[in-house]
Amino acid sequence: MLFCNTQDLQTVLNILYILNELLTVGGGRRVGVFVSKGGTGILLQLVLSGSKESPPSEELMLQLHSLLAKVGPKDRKFGVKARLNGALNVTVNLLKQNLQNHKLLLPCLQVLRCVLPSLPPLLACSLFPSLHPSLPLSITLPIPLSPSSHPSLTLHPSIQPSLPPSETNARRAVDRAHVPVLLYIYQDWHRNDTRHRHMLIRKGVLGCLKNITNIKLGRKAFIDADGMRILYNTSTECLPVRTLDPLINTSSLIMRKCFPKNRLPLPTIKSVFHHQLPHVPAGGPVAQLYNQPLGVDDVVDESDDNDDVETENDTENEEEDKDHHARNDDIETDINKLRPKETHSRPFEELKIYERFFLELSEDFQVMQDTLLSAPKSQRPIIVPTAQALPPKYPTATPLQEECQLAKGEQPHPEASPLAPAPTLAPVHTLDTINIIKDQDGCCDHSQIRPQPGLEHNRQPPLLAGGVAARQGGGAEETLAEEWAEEEGGEGAVLEVPDTALLLPLHDPDLYVEMVKSTRSVPQYSEVAYPDYFGHVAPTFREHILERVYGVQRTKIFQDIERLIHPNDILDKVVYDLDIQSCPVIDDGESLKFNSQFESGNLRKAIQVRKFEYDLVLNSDINSNHYHQWFYFEVSGMRVGAPYRFNIINCEKSNSQFNYGMQVLMYSVQEAISGRPRWVRTGTDICYYKNHFSRSSIAAGGQKGKSYYTMTFSMTFNHKDDVCYFAYHYPYTYSTLKMHLQKLEALRTPQIYMRQDVLCETLGGNSCPLLTITAMPESTSNDQICQFRNRPLVFLSARVHPGETNASWVMKGTLEFLMGSSPLAHSLREAYIFKIVPMLNPDGVVNGNHRCSLSGEDLNRQWQSPSPELHPTIYHTKSLLQYLAAIQRAPLVFCDYHGHSRKKNVFMYGCSLKETVWQTNISAASCELHEDLGYRTLPKILSQTAPAFSMASCSFVVERSKEATARVVVWREIGVQRSYTMESTLCGCDQGKYKGLQIGTRELEEMGAQFCVALLRLKRLTSPLELRNHAHLLDVESDLIETRCKVTRSDTCTHQEIIDRLNRNTYTHWLAVN
Ligand SMILES: [Zn+2]
Repeated sequence: MLFCNTQDLQTVLNILYILNELLTVGGGRRVGVFVSKGGTGILLQLVLSGSKESPPSEELMLQLHSLLAKVGPKDRKFGVKARLNGALNVTVNLLKQNLQNHKLLLPCLQVLRCVLPSLPPLLACSLFPSLHPSLPLSITLPIPLSPSSHPSLTLHPSIQPSLPPSETNARRAVDRAHVPVLLYIYQDWHRNDTRHRHMLIRKGVLGCLKNITNIKLGRKAFIDADGMRILYNTSTECLPVRTLDPLINTSSLIMRKCFPKNRLPLPTIKSVFHHQLPHVPAGGPVAQLYNQPLGVDDVVDESDDNDDVETENDTENEEEDKDHHARNDDIETDINKLRPKETHSRPFEELKIYERFFLELSEDFQVMQDTLLSAPKSQRPIIVPTAQALPPKYPTATPLQEECQLAKGEQPHPEASPLAPAPTLAPVHTLDTINIIKDQDGCCDHSQIRPQPGLEHNRQPPLLAGGVAARQGGGAEETLAEEWAEEEGGEGAVLEVPDTALLLPLHDPDLYVEMVKSTRSVPQYSEVAYPDYFGHVAPTFREHILERVYGVQRTKIFQDIERLIHPNDILDKVVYDLDIQSCPVIDDGESLKFNSQFESGNLRKAIQVRKFEYDLVLNSDINSNHYHQWFYFEVSGMRVGAPYRFNIINCEKSNSQFNYGMQVLMYSVQEAISGRPRWVRTGTDICYYKNHFSRSSIAAGGQKGKSYYTMTFSMTFNHKDDVCYFAYHYPYTYSTLKMHLQKLEALRTPQIYMRQDVLCETLGGNSCPLLTITAMPESTSNDQICQFRNRPLVFLSARVHPGETNASWVMKGTLEFLMGSSPLAHSLREAYIFKIVPMLNPDGVVNGNHRCSLSGEDLNRQWQSPSPELHPTIYHTKSLLQYLAAIQRAPLVFCDYHGHSRKKNVFMYGCSLKETVWQTNISAASCELHEDLGYRTLPKILSQTAPAFSMASCSFVVERSKEATARVVVWREIGVQRSYTMESTLCGCDQGKYKGLQIGTRELEEMGAQFCVALLRLKRLTSPLELRNHAHLLDVESDLIETRCKVTRSDTCTHQEIIDRLNRNTYTHWLAVN
């Protein structure tokens, strides 16, 4: 406005100074806003009007052009605007007249560059002969300065609209062999501009190369002109000068773009393991996978030739912006989809079979009374007898036999009485060996356990992974097996199994091995990973979220580029490969040994790239060709102190917490047997970036031209002859769950009602446990039985996504609390009946999947219409809930535990019709919507009690993409108002007591326990009798009513303000005041 109205030059200049300052500091976003408000046009108009003054003010022109130089790159129509308005001619004339005026020349050239992306360096060179004495004559091309004489300008109006001007120019530049010239010029400036006075010009040249290499022809010309080596060498020389960072960054960007795209070193991206499905779904990715003709190369695209170039989006903010936009688009706007679904699709007769999972609702305890009262308090852990020497912590002989006898008579049965727990294991007789021997179809056959032929010793320990001496001081060749065998013979060393019985009451190595025997995996694993066997004792020291180290990503990318520059250093030696029938075991002392053929392991291939550097490829989820994020593998044969670098090269997410301070987890067996059995956060130089392995569009949802990402970390090992394990997060296997459940059963006291049922079998033949926990009635009086049966239900589930192991640790915390002896736990059991499915996706967990079940699908997208054949655990869990709804006993709270890979803290997603409607700004109907605010109570309590929990991260909006998740379906179809997903960070916290720390199992388990405590508070708040004891809450309640009235009355209070207000309020409960 001011521009147009003022004639005063100084005023205009002052405004321009301010504007220049604003646009310099604010970064791209401010410029974007400026452009969107028509700023470009105003500036160009000023250039034009300013040029009519004679003589034109130099300062004005300087300021205007330096502004235009900032605005030009952000305005797609800049060239057109500048030409149409006539300002371009002014700029060109200005240039002509000021060839010696360096101050004005540069901004003018920068403006021109926005119009003619490939030209200015040549212009610059031809204009700076004095600066540039070494320039050969052939390069000081006589560039015509009149725009009308240049074809790219005269062509503009007739250019096909689909081709952006820059692309045409790039093509032209390649045709005219400008690429080698530009590279020459760049090198030349690099050599001669020793005092770095002309960085902008050097950057300009790179900018041209950057534009030209946007097209495939340009990238080819760049490679042919040895561009990689030239930019690599110049960048390396620039590295010590921090001010040259922009040059290095642009060079690195160009080199990454031009780095020849590689295919993943795999025969197919389909999982290396296959599981035949009972039937293949009609459509979707799984059907696509099954219908793919044999022999099709799915690792790369046929259509890889396309010239589509993704714009480089490496900054964090843009990434987050994108997410934010996606979220807004994703909000459910169809109000009918937000209202409860009325029709119950299934007749009650069909649901009646689920009655057997709810014995507590009809239990009368008359028959059981005697047993109930005489049930012994079992303090002793359940001991599974094996032939091997028992660890000294256990008493010997007699009690075991008793236990065995007891077990023999019973079969595991889903309807097992709570008082006589059915063991989940078949009875185990005296064994010749506890090797895990499986019969043909992968099933463990306990009755046929037999000595392994060809082994000298009859008795063998479990086949632990690693196979190297796991004892300090032990010879490298001496296997653990031999040690144990020797122990049997009463000679030699004794394996020092860390005695963790006191610290880990739910862990027992021998029991773990027993559990593994009945776990069915597709690859038929027979090994046990040491960490799962020894257990994990959370360290007492703090593990801080790492500070982001400057330049790490760049260094790593340069090291990748060096593969091309110095190919002689490259070994490319495959050291582990599941795609080959007999996986090679290289033991030449020069390479690390890898293994991940144990439960939850998923390493597919390891390639030694350089002496101490390995590329690792993760296996896809079974019946799928992608989902790579979770990892768990074993490394041995390391050299102490050597700087190893590991690259996981087929990651898929566009960003990762590994860029924000998260470290990988490592477990050292040497540390474990020295009394420190634990996972620790480890690794340096960790970063996550887009790499040069191209992704097939088949695995990228049809999108072409995508690349994989590399997660890289460096590591030096401290112990010789160690066996180390690396994992994405603290592993928690299905066998671990079974062990924990067995140990939890042993904690049951006569006051605790606990039942373990088998909900169903999975596709892979594993059983899905369902737990019922509540308090025994105090007596068999009618009142007591009635109170017992009428307790509200709380329904919990976890681990539908196998890669989210943190969910299982939270669940462990919940279960341990529920089975505990504290008065709080007792009150909680008296308050509710807990129904818990602790692992919704056992098959996924067992087979090392990240996201899916054996059906190749995300089970948390199947809740709307789960298939009993393909998604049995979801089908039956939903049926349980449908049954409860049908008998009018829908749970008070439903919560599904998850892990979140991008956010910090622990938080909840809930469902609110109102908050969803508010977000979409459809104000029309919102005032008439009545909704109980009770869904906010539980997260609010948690934010006050659980240190890791953050209310600010919670959301109660229903997204379209989530409509088939447990949370939304249970809310809408079952009518559970408090239906949640609880997300725990994989990384750490940025608020509360754990701010700045990475999350560990202790914090996760604490979260699970705090969830229980919160439920107890919820009970008190929701119980009408107790409300009067919470009079202080009523104030806040009226506050809320006021808020709501405000909404009804006027629009002055925005919806976000209301939500913020809700978040702030200490009050959590809402009384229906309709
Ligand atoms: Zn999840």
